[in-house]
Amino acid sequence: MDEAAISSERRGPLIARLRLRDFFGGDRGNGDRLRDDGQSRRIVLAGESVDYRLVRARRRTIGMQIGLSGLTVRAPRWVSIREIEAALAERDAWVIRSLAEWRTRRREVLPRAWKTGASILYLGRELTLAVHPARKREIAADLLNLSVLHPAAADERQVAAFVGRWLREEALRLLAPYVAEFAPRVTTDAPTLKLSNARSEWGSCNQHGTIRLNWRLVQLPPHLARYIVAHEVAHLVELNHSPRFWKLVEMLFPGHVEARRTLDDWTALLEA
Ligand SMILES: [Zn+2]
Repeated sequence: MDEAAISSERRGPLIARLRLRDFFGGDRGNGDRLRDDGQSRRIVLAGESVDYRLVRARRRTIGMQIGLSGLTVRAPRWVSIREIEAALAERDAWVIRSLAEWRTRRREVLPRAWKTGASILYLGRELTLAVHPARKREIAADLLNLSVLHPAAADERQVAAFVGRWLREEALRLLAPYVAEFAPRVTTDAPTLKLSNARSEWGSCNQHGTIRLNWRLVQLPPHLARYIVAHEVAHLVELNHSPRFWKLVEMLFPGHVEARRTLDDWTALLEA
């Protein structure tokens, strides 16, 4: 099942959307078996109830990964649930601590209070907001801080609106070159690029050659944003998630499977 197939059934405009379930393995039809969405399970660790996703994978060891979407355990098929739970119990302190850290990070995608000291995510890094009164409006990001100069520095709504506009401009500055780089490799028609504010998807592409990219991509590590652009550009040619489509994605973005996996950790950004 994939979105493009659903849309064509509705006889609406053909549109391929990169939805959350793309990353959670919801689109397994058409030979897209890159991901196994696994099984939801629950365990009590150190007195705390912990939900996790168990994915049976071709590997030799039990792997644990914690991201914004929670705890994922990958294990070979021959390992029993009892062994998996024992492995989790062995690392219970790490699991509980990491989950707490990710919950905090999830909250700090955009600041609640738009003032100095608040956290904001930019290019995959958690920066600290530093707001200063000034006659001119200006924003500068370094490795640690996002410095904002604004005449009404104490007015959080104005600061939020100013930073919000800046993030969208930065998104375009980041994403447009990726589109310009990838598109000529698959088509002679230049696509139209638009920014979106969707809550459920990173990007989409329709049969008119319009690519919509979520401005929040500027908050992801840039290589993940780049993967999403490659994904949408590939839809200019293949408006589906067929094996031909994934081959095209891999041509544009070698190693895309790993990027899709890492992206899991960031999907909650959209809902934050
Ligand atoms: Zn897609």
